[in-house]
Parts: sequence; structure tokens; C-alpha cells
Amino acid sequence: MSRLDPALQSVYDTVLQRNPGEVEFHQAVHEVLESLNPVASKHPEYIDKAVIERICEPERQIIFRVPWVDDTGQIRINRAFRVEFNSALGPYKGGMRFHPSVYLGVVKFLGFEQLFKNALTGMPIGGGKGGSDFDPKGRSEGEVMRFCQSLMTELSRHIGEYTDVPAGDIGVGEREIGYMFGQFKRITNRYESGVLTGKGMAYGGSRVRREATGYGTVFFTEHMLETLNTTLSGKRVVVSGSGNVALYAARKAEELGAVVVACSDSNGYVVQDDGLDVDELIQVKEVERLRVSDYAGRRTNAKYVEGGNVWEVPCDVALPCATQNELDAASARSLVGSGVVAVAEGANMPCTPDAVRTFQDAGILFGPGKAANAGGVATSALEMQQNASRDSWSFEYTEQRLAEIMHGVHERCASAAEEYGTPGNYVAGANISSFIQVADAMLALGVI
Ligand code: GLU
Repeated sequence: MSRLDPALQSVYDTVLQRNPGEVEFHQAVHEVLESLNPVASKHPEYIDKAVIERICEPERQIIFRVPWVDDTGQIRINRAFRVEFNSALGPYKGGMRFHPSVYLGVVKFLGFEQLFKNALTGMPIGGGKGGSDFDPKGRSEGEVMRFCQSLMTELSRHIGEYTDVPAGDIGVGEREIGYMFGQFKRITNRYESGVLTGKGMAYGGSRVRREATGYGTVFFTEHMLETLNTTLSGKRVVVSGSGNVALYAARKAEELGAVVVACSDSNGYVVQDDGLDVDELIQVKEVERLRVSDYAGRRTNAKYVEGGNVWEVPCDVALPCATQNELDAASARSLVGSGVVAVAEGANMPCTPDAVRTFQDAGILFGPGKAANAGGVATSALEMQQNASRDSWSFEYTEQRLAEIMHGVHERCASAAEEYGTPGNYVAGANISSFIQVADAMLALGVI
């Protein structure tokens, strides 16, 4: 860890003391504070007016019980969260994650990241995040529906088109959003389309939302590669994960001429030297809800490595799209050794701080999640726009808007990095540019 300016260190000490045990949150805050060293010296007002300290403390944190009945008639209890982090730029906006690892520290780290990510898109959305320790794996349709309904029965009182707009994340896709939207509509007797994003096309969803995070990650990667006068065409790409982000990152990379050689799930990875058949992979994972081993079973030229680390597969471009801290320093060294030229985070904080440093020290292009995966939430904001105007845009138009937004995200990162003396450092650029935007809005709004 690098040293913090004394004023920033004191903010960090307060965060540690106020949020004991929330290691992921500490990690996310530390990374941002490290980038703010040059900002704090240039703008003492951010320290004097306690803007940095206020940014690190969520505006509101909601924790509630979710009781539901499983298929055997047994009563189950889960815990759910909604952390409304910051609404200086717009209504709280961010997904819900359903995964057994979810606890307050994970939701806070995600909410903190989301705040800056949302600012980077240049759109009027604040930051929030939520989730539950519910494990959807192995649950029936009926169980998932009853869980979503029970969760929404409580969550409905806290959200709204102008207040807080949840969406999906790990374990929450179109199916879960549908059940939650249905329950919200029933409880409130309002067809408030803009209260959730990631909706299905049948009831107010946006085209490209499903693809957006993965597509956006690839657009961002293309912009990074442009700075080296190269493109994705002909590059070998490894994607970790096989959820919605990974699948559509793979599809766009393939469309742009890359060869996607491997992807993974929590059990292992699949590698195919001549390139994965992305359509088949989408069929297996998204339609049939099976594992990557099932994909490998259908392909004679694909190899499945049970329990293996996907980052052992040599590649030119690595797109970690699974989950936080999935790529550590040892994996980063192995990627550097195999000649990787660019890494872009499709997931939130998938690279450990040591891994990030390894890439940066080796001079490899590194796109942090806040920037590289901002396309998902940006398209959620486009969904909100369509809902507000009772409109529905074409795929082409929506994708073009996404591409423009990702270009803007890249430009903001690149120019802030340049201005603050770290050209090419997208981590610093993303953190500085988004922080200044949120901080200036907070200063204008007074001590609230
Ligand atoms: N969960 C996604 C993210 O990490 C999307 C959030 C949204 O669309 O609101 O950015």
C-alpha cells in the first residue's frame, strides 16, 4: 500500500474505526484515497469542508429480514441490504446482488464503487447498492419468486423513480427483476417503470441492457488499445466468469475479431484454442442455466479444467468478469509473463491491489472496473430515460449511445490522469475525475 497524505490518512483511520471488519469496503476506500493525494494538495476545500470524509459515509444504510417459505414448507430467513451511498448527482442507482458472500462490507464496497462509476458516465445518477445473502443456486422458480416478492415487500418502501433505482448484479437478472417489479407494482398500485432497471423487454426494459456491461468493457478496452495504435482484432482474449458480463464481453470481443480462448465459473474453466463458440456458451449458460463443464462436454476441441485458475491461460487481453479479488498478484505475474498487453475489469474490483500494481509496474494497460464496466449502469440510465419519455429505442441507437458514453468515460479518465501527472494511469484518472464531479456537487449543496 502506498502512503496517504496525512489528511487522507485521518479519513481512512475514521473509515476503519467506523466500519470494523468490512475489509472489501476498506480496500475500495483506500484505492480511491491513494489516487486523491494530488487532489487534496491542489484543493484544500475538499478536506476543509469534510467532503472526502462525508463521501466515505453512506447517506443511509438499510438492513432487513427476508422471510420466505421453501418448496418443502420450511421457513427460511435471509438478510438483505440497501446502502444508499450518495445522491449528490441523482437518485441512488446500483444493482442488487444475491450471493451467500453478501454482507454489509460487500454492499458498501459495491455502493462506494458505484458512486464513482456512475459519476464517470456523465449521467445524473447517484450511487447505491444492495443485495442479500440468499443463494439462488439450486433454488426452484417458485422459491426464487417467493424470495424476490418477500424482499420487495420491504424494499418497496425505500425505493422510487426519484429516490433509489435498483437493478441487477450477481445472482439477479431479468427473471429476478421481473418478480421484484411485479411485487412493487402490486404493493404500490403504481406502474412506475423507472423504479427498477434491467427489466425485460415485455414490460419497459431497454434493448442492449443485457449486453451493456460486457459490451462496454470491450469498447473501453478498444479505446485503451487505440493508445498503442492497435485493436482487438486477432488478439487472444481470456474472460473469467460466465455470467452476463462475461458472456457479452466475449460476444463483442469476438465480433471485433478477437479469439476468445477461455472462460470460467466457480468450479473450473474451459479453454478452446481455436476460440469458444460464444453463441453456444450463451445457450448453455443463459438459456439452459448449466455450467461451463456442460459446454466443454458438447465440444470435442474444448478442454475443461476442474478447479483450475483461468489466468494460467496465456492471452493478449484479460477481462476479469467474475467477482471481487478473483485475480491476485501471482495470477497477474503469470499474465504479465505470458505477454498480456491489456487488462480491463468487467467485474467490480476483481483485481487485488497487488495485482493492479503488478500490471501497472509492468506498463500494461489497466482499466479499472469503475471505468471499464460502467456501460451497464449507463444503459440503466438510458432505460430510465426511455421509461420517463414512454419510449423504446432500437438496438442500434441504444448501442450507439452506449459506445458514445464509453468513449466519454475513457476520455474523462485519460484527461484527469494527464492533468494530475499520471498519464496512462486509468485508476488515478477514474478516481480523480469522478471524485471531483461528486465533490463539487456536494460543495454546492451545502452541509447535508
Ligand atoms: N450491478 C451493475 C454495476 O455494477 C449495474 C447497476 C445498475 O444498472 O444500476 O454497475
